[in-house]
Amino acid sequence: MIPRHAKIKFNGGRGALLCNTCNTIIRQNFDPHTIEDKKWYCERHTNEINSPRPQRSGEELRR
Ligand SMILES: [Zn+2]
Repeated sequence: MIPRHAKIKFNGGRGALLCNTCNTIIRQNFDPHTIEDKKWYCERHTNEINSPRPQRSGEELRR
C-alpha cells in the first residue's frame, strides 16, 4: 500500500512518519502498513488545527 495522505520517509526499510506541515518526525521504527493513511501532524500542529486562527484574507498564493 502506498500512503496517499500520510507522509512517510523510508530509511533502510524502516519508516518515519512526518508531520504533514513541518516534516517533524512523529514516529520512527514502525511498520508503515500498520499506520492509518491520513494526514498526521506533530503535537504543535495538531493544536493549531484544532484551534484554527483566522488568516489574512485578500492574499492568495498563486503558483
Ligand atoms: Zn508540525
